[in-house]
Amino acid sequence: MSTYFTEQQQLLAQMVRDFAEREIRPNLKHWDDHEIFPVEVMKKMGELGLLGIFIPEQYGGSGFGYNEYATVLMELGKVCGGVGLSVAAHNSLCTVHIYYHGSEAQKQKYLPKLASGEWIGAWGLTEANTGSDAMRMKATAVRDGDHWILNGSKNWITHGLTGDVSVVLIRTGELLDSIGITAFIV
Ligand SMILES: Cc1cc2nc3c(=O)[nH]c(=O)nc-3n(C[C@H](O)[C@H](O)[C@H](O)COP(=O)(O)OP(=O)(O)OC[C@H]3O[C@@H](n4cnc5c(N)ncnc54)[C@H](O)[C@@H]3O)c2cc1C
Repeated sequence: MSTYFTEQQQLLAQMVRDFAEREIRPNLKHWDDHEIFPVEVMKKMGELGLLGIFIPEQYGGSGFGYNEYATVLMELGKVCGGVGLSVAAHNSLCTVHIYYHGSEAQKQKYLPKLASGEWIGAWGLTEANTGSDAMRMKATAVRDGDHWILNGSKNWITHGLTGDVSVVLIRTGELLDSIGITAFIV
């Protein structure tokens, strides 16, 4: 019995499997040994539509849903969990956050370039001393005229070094106020 429900998922799984065997598996040891993040593989996955999985076609995405997203991650993960995590963080942390909660102007500015892989996306919540206890985050943002000044640092951020765009969660209210946290696009 197939793992996948629809013919579309099966075709997608085959495409991702072929891509991973051709572009990822032969290079795994080299990337690990030399601590290389394969930016060019991300760009190729952008060309295949794997970096804008949930994003509608009007913003340059593939317009798929969670079944297709899970299909892509399972097939990539069979070959390289690290590349799978990169695709997950890019799609469902950074890009979808902007799609669900961004303004129309932000969607038009960021989504086409994230969906095509021209820009790699990151999402920053965790700090050195606040992982699951995120409400104690120390980073703060204050308004300064028509700008915001962000102060603090984030840790363990997937694509923190290699990303072009980051959605960063920062405290704008009181400590432990669960609605006192704001997402900024940096
Ligand atoms: C590969 C990888 C990629 C990551 N990418 C990102 C990213 O892109 N963006 C980002 O923001 N973060 C990222 N992170 C950070 C990740 O989200 C945090 O590691 C996670 O939130 C856990 O935080 P922590 O490591 O500080 O552990 P802690 O929160 O300190 O937890 C440590 C241990 O204590 C336990 N624990 C925590 N709270 C309680 C409690 N109240 N009661 C009982 N037990 C508890 C936990 O279950 C765990 O076993 C990444 C982490 C990894 C490993």
